[in-house]
Amino acid sequence: MPHSLVALLETLLPQVHASLRNNLQGEVARYIPELGKVAPDQFGMAVMLANGELVSVGDCESAFTIQSVSKAFSYAMLLDALGPEDVAKVVGVQPSGEPFNNITLDPRTQRPFNPMLNAGAIAVAGGLYECYGEESFARMMQLFGDAAGRPLEVDEAVFQSEQATGDRNRAIGHLLRAAGVFQAPVDAVLELYFRQCSVLVTARDLAAMAATLSNLGTHPRTDTNVFNPLTVRQTLSVMFTCGMYDGAGNWACNVGVPAKSGVGGGILAVINRQLGVGVFSPRLDAAGNSVRGQLACIHLAEELGLHIFDSSNAGSALLDAR
Ligand code: GLU
Repeated sequence: MPHSLVALLETLLPQVHASLRNNLQGEVARYIPELGKVAPDQFGMAVMLANGELVSVGDCESAFTIQSVSKAFSYAMLLDALGPEDVAKVVGVQPSGEPFNNITLDPRTQRPFNPMLNAGAIAVAGGLYECYGEESFARMMQLFGDAAGRPLEVDEAVFQSEQATGDRNRAIGHLLRAAGVFQAPVDAVLELYFRQCSVLVTARDLAAMAATLSNLGTHPRTDTNVFNPLTVRQTLSVMFTCGMYDGAGNWACNVGVPAKSGVGGGILAVINRQLGVGVFSPRLDAAGNSVRGQLACIHLAEELGLHIFDSSNAGSALLDAR
């Protein structure tokens, strides 16, 4: 891996960070009361190359809750446990164009449209609970920690806050159980889902988790194999079409890489075989995506030629920089 790419990133990341630092548009999520207490102006960015080299800037060690970014990893966990055919009996791979918390099933299948929406992620949590029962969360924490390259913890206050105010998600859980998506107790499945959303990460962790996906499922520094390559392929495909809530189409055009955002303000983006990006900035737009996080990724994609359909494309124009 070229030293020059690291040098380029060491110049570029501070430039992008400085150019966006004063952009204070958007609001922190408040529908989960604890999230409303987050310091809104934090801003950190990190890039980990698929060889493990790391470049970061700003508040890249501030902890925040992973929220929906976890959905990519719980989906990958279920794919590794059951394989794609059985997972398709639980959740589809279709973009829905609906808000993240929509209470709908795909009318053709009576399954959630995709695993990046709450309904799909709760279906995935149901599938995991049916595989692993009460061990589910411990296994998930192990896996998320392996993907990040360090043990992770839960923000108990956010978890309690989600439990206390999660009626809409609980309603989704009952709908799924009534539709036969899972048979496990709704409360146990929802507890798993709320806990997975409350895992604390930093922008550096997201970059490392993204780098693990970019590196065919193996953490570039620890060499731990976390996901099998076919699981990674399917997860990245669904992230590409569904990962950015109802901003997914604009993201595909403007950035053009698989990504997942969360209402905690995190965005994780993957450049296959090359690098992972983690950004944290808690002010969100109306779709629930980090305002500065999206702009930072647009800048990086433009400067580095990351869009998968760029004209010089062989996966990414970044290959030429090597
Ligand atoms: N825990 C959040 C919820 O279920 C996750 C939402 C998100 O990040 O999109 O409402």
